[in-house]
Amino acid sequence: MRLDTKAMRYLTGEDWRTLTAVETGSRNHEVVPTPLIGQISGLRGGVHKSISALAKIGLIARLKNAKYDGYRLTYGGLDYLALNTYRKRKDVYSVGNQIGVGKESDIFVVADEQGVQRVLKIHRLGRISFRTVKANRDYLRNRSSGSWMYMSRLAALKEYTFMTALRENGFAVPEPLAQSRHTIVMSLIDAFPMRQISSVPDPASLYAELISMILRLAQYGLIHGDFNEFNILIKEEVKKELQENKETESIILTPILIDFPQMVSVDHANAEYYFDRDVNCIKRFFERRFHFTSDEKGPHFADARKLIGKDGVTRLDVSVEASGFSRKMAKELEAYMKAVGVDGDGDPEAARGDEESGDEDEDEEEEEGEEDGEPENETGRQVETMEGDASDPFQAKG
Ligand code: ADP
Ligand code: MG
Repeated sequence: MRLDTKAMRYLTGEDWRTLTAVETGSRNHEVVPTPLIGQISGLRGGVHKSISALAKIGLIARLKNAKYDGYRLTYGGLDYLALNTYRKRKDVYSVGNQIGVGKESDIFVVADEQGVQRVLKIHRLGRISFRTVKANRDYLRNRSSGSWMYMSRLAALKEYTFMTALRENGFAVPEPLAQSRHTIVMSLIDAFPMRQISSVPDPASLYAELISMILRLAQYGLIHGDFNEFNILIKEEVKKELQENKETESIILTPILIDFPQMVSVDHANAEYYFDRDVNCIKRFFERRFHFTSDEKGPHFADARKLIGKDGVTRLDVSVEASGFSRKMAKELEAYMKAVGVDGDGDPEAARGDEESGDEDEDEEEEEGEEDGEPENETGRQVETMEGDASDPFQAKG
């Protein structure tokens, strides 16, 4: 889904108040009745003009309920609210190109006022078709239709909380910069996913580094759960050294880990399964891509278990609960992700096409709409870039 910021500069203060009122009303109304929007916004009867302006650009959608007419927020509307928060807090000044389309997220390059590039990740849980069994459909149907919004918020909150905890403990992850609603802003890593790298000078050392990252995560009580070539960015740095008066250059590869909504605790009921899957993803990729097979078996989960809490490190699976991502939230998010069929982009069971052709890349867009719960949204169908005057903070950059 695109992010079209064109209309942002035309929205009046009253429009923003109205949009915020629809968001607030959505917390306990599937369809927010028009009079309630007027009431929450404080605009009363004057709200109609804003409502039609917002509906016209697809930020809210009109719905007829059995009992009454009203509106609900679309993904486009939620995007605008998040962007407006970032704009006010000066976290984001301009929005640029989309660099990633996942099944459950969209990734954009944005910039702050100084022009420093950052990454905006927008979570879009529930936009994919539910290709799952009836039980899951029923599960989803029995939840309020606002749940895609709530679950996407949870995913963003989880990702931000874990990224912060990992970063504070010296893990190589992007710097988390801000979080609002279903989105996060983080530092831009100037690197390619390992998926796009055809050869490395020393596969054995990169392999060892990745395995030690998996084990270090376990030491801190965590399993990534989607540890694969898409979620590891490989930073290349040229190191120059003076040896016997001759300058030599060597390339240092540093893996940076991203994508945390599916992280689990080492105490999770299926911890061993997720741990093994993470290890095997790396093994399989190194065999196929770099023709490298480790001499050592494992590591197995039993090895990892022995490392939990070693050297008195903080268990991050425990500490994140205190810092805002509760166990209840974790459970809710996990159940929802399971129901909509989210199981990481490196799931070995998922048919991925020809591994070696190397061009299909990334997650293909699932067919959208139809039977799924994705809110239709005009904004999302429009072009993402726009022309604009230089004073417009939300003009897209080429
Ligand atoms: P998804 O949940 O859709 O898989 P990811 O967080 O894995 O989302 O991001 C998708 C892609 O976007 C990554 O494979 C990477 O190419 C790019 N990306 C994500 N975050 C960053 C970042 N901080 N810096 C640079 N590229 C990023
Ligand atoms: Mg990913």
